[in-house]
Amino acid sequence: MPGLWRGARPTRWRRALVAPALVGAWLALGPAQAAARDPVDQPSVDDAVAFVDTLALIRENPLGKPEAGWVRRWRGPVAVTLEGVAVPGFSAVVATSLKRISEATGLAFHLADHAGADGHIAIRVRHQGVVAASFGQSDAVCLTSTFGEAGELHRAIVDISEGYLDCLDHELMHALGFNNHWHGATMGRSIATVLAPRHSRDRRRAFSAWDILAIRTLYRAELPPGLERDEALPRLRAILLEESVVPAAGR
Ligand SMILES: [Zn+2]
Repeated sequence: MPGLWRGARPTRWRRALVAPALVGAWLALGPAQAAARDPVDQPSVDDAVAFVDTLALIRENPLGKPEAGWVRRWRGPVAVTLEGVAVPGFSAVVATSLKRISEATGLAFHLADHAGADGHIAIRVRHQGVVAASFGQSDAVCLTSTFGEAGELHRAIVDISEGYLDCLDHELMHALGFNNHWHGATMGRSIATVLAPRHSRDRRRAFSAWDILAIRTLYRAELPPGLERDEALPRLRAILLEESVVPAAGR
């Protein structure tokens, strides 16, 4: 899309003078040790690697500590059903998001009346309060659960409170295999994304250019479901180095 990318011509990644394994350091030392940096005005490939790595390849262990994870994603077409409270116009909003996801992943994510043989994402629009009551978290308004095997996702359930329909793309990112959130202040990198905390300046309602980049990257053939983070990281960097254009920080 013209105007989506910084500048009139494709912009190459800013060459990084040093390429610290920032996320690796973060894993080992904790977020407080991450070097403070200015907001990302001219993102480097390191920023993109850190972004995708943080969202997709790190998981929480039972003690709540981050540890290395693996690639989790869908492999084939996915039927998406819309259930619960009927909200006029919402089906079209979902269809628009699924179209963007299909283009970015190369897989067919399509609205369906019921689950078939394909993968299945159920989007359940819930009355206010039902989500929180069901899951015991008073501040929970949107929640996604995913189910799969060896990194390959088969099923996901997205619960959205009818008063917070703007978390649709956020939850769809979780359903696509992005487990985590982007805390730009902690990471020292301000990046526009639907996966930033709701009230942060990085938060977007609809997929940002960075989100689309992350989705496209995670669904490249070089990153098959189940691939461990150690193996995935160099491939991730190689894919992102190929990208000749880079989103501006706020896009
Ligand atoms: Zn979330």
